Amino acid sequence: MRKKIVAGNWKMNTTLAEGQALASEIIHMVEDETDRSVQVVLIPPFTHLYPINKLIGSLRKKHIYLGAQDCSAHEKGAYTGEVSAAMLQSVGVDYVIVGHSERREYHAENHALLAQKARRVLEHGMQLIFCCGEPLSVREAGNYLEYVEAQLRESLFELEADLWEHIVIAYEPVWAIGTGKTATPEQAQEVHAYIRSLIAERYDKALAHEVSILYGGSCKPENAAELFAQADIDGGLIGGASLKSRSFVDIIKACQ
Ligand code: PGA
Repeated sequence: MRKKIVAGNWKMNTTLAEGQALASEIIHMVEDETDRSVQVVLIPPFTHLYPINKLIGSLRKKHIYLGAQDCSAHEKGAYTGEVSAAMLQSVGVDYVIVGHSERREYHAENHALLAQKARRVLEHGMQLIFCCGEPLSVREAGNYLEYVEAQLRESLFELEADLWEHIVIAYEPVWAIGTGKTATPEQAQEVHAYIRSLIAERYDKALAHEVSILYGGSCKPENAAELFAQADIDGGLIGGASLKSRSFVDIIKACQ
């Protein structure tokens, strides 16, 4: 059964104390207010992973998971400042984002590098959240489907079929991230359905049917329900609205 997932990408926000307070609020509200049918993923900065994992673990919340925002393409060694997949796995990380548009843009991450990162995450038994999505110029030129297709083909389509049960796709149109401009449900559904059809073509239909495809980009409580109502939208990757427990939990409730 395809999973419903709402993941909160905190990006480079919160001190440790703020992050722990936010995580604890979210965990309690999820317990009190939701039916637990949605997998919730908290994705704080690297420095907060270990303590927040303890917080989740001590409360034994089986439907709340821990995520990291990136990982190194290298296994280990002289790569100052990098954090490896093995390290993430050792502090209890369940999900790792690879290919976020901010990494692609500000850190020049290309298809080949992202393919290596994806491989590392999967080798270490974690779940991959692979981001794709077109910038505004591509959307306006009309070739956004080809653009997203290249992102998936170049970084993921070499992976063996049996790894796909550990892969989640997040479609995040760059023009919608942090801009307040959300894709309409129809715009998002078009790309999500296309992504699923590409996976079906490359692998098979049953496998494609099981892959969760999340939408990201100015998703908030006001627009979440209509996005999640689309046939191929299985949840969201939430940035700004995940930094407030009330709005994040309302988005989770919209996904139930
Ligand atoms: P946003 O970010 O919700 O603030 O637009 C989404 C993301 O970048 O994952």
